[in-house]
Amino acid sequence: MAQAEPDWQEMEPLGKLTCSSHACERDLHCFLRRRPRDKSYRNGRCVACDVDLIDWERIDKHDLGDASYTIRALEHELVRHAYWHKPLDDRALERAWKRGLVVLRQEAEKRIHTSVGPPRSEIFRDGTQTPTSGNVLYYAQHATATCCRRCIEAWHGIDRNRRLTGTEESYMVELVMLYVSRRLPELTADSGELPHPPR
Ligand SMILES: [Zn+2]
Ligand SMILES: [Zn+2]
Repeated sequence: MAQAEPDWQEMEPLGKLTCSSHACERDLHCFLRRRPRDKSYRNGRCVACDVDLIDWERIDKHDLGDASYTIRALEHELVRHAYWHKPLDDRALERAWKRGLVVLRQEAEKRIHTSVGPPRSEIFRDGTQTPTSGNVLYYAQHATATCCRRCIEAWHGIDRNRRLTGTEESYMVELVMLYVSRRLPELTADSGELPHPPR
């Protein structure tokens, strides 16, 4: 890419990032409508600078063959970008290596089903159910916008008022596991020891 990647270190002075954070001057936006009432959480354009960057029809196909586009699109949002690039904490790293890919996938299935499977009205404080550290799956959920029903509606176009289908849950599990394999390419199917001591 011709443009310099905004790096994570540079972003930290912005303070605590939330789903409504943006840094449009660094080309990192926010597509989540704040108080939608009866509308969708999807704002389409950036809520702050109105830039129109995302091919939503393409994202709504939920096509894993096109996941690299979906990921590139997610990275236009400040909070997602941060979770794609910031270092994983030591506890999350150790935990991932102790589990291995097979167990992590089972955990991802369970987590997607219980944390975001039900309609928003049946979730206790939707938007706060996914912690921000301690487990690579949490990072993955924030990075892929599968952390709560607001982000799922904004990014994946699924009505927050109904239960996710099995197909939708499997799609999200695959996105989460894509994140895991991108961030931890050395992770194997089985459990094992950390290849290097955590930074
Ligand atoms: Zn913007
Ligand atoms: Zn969320």
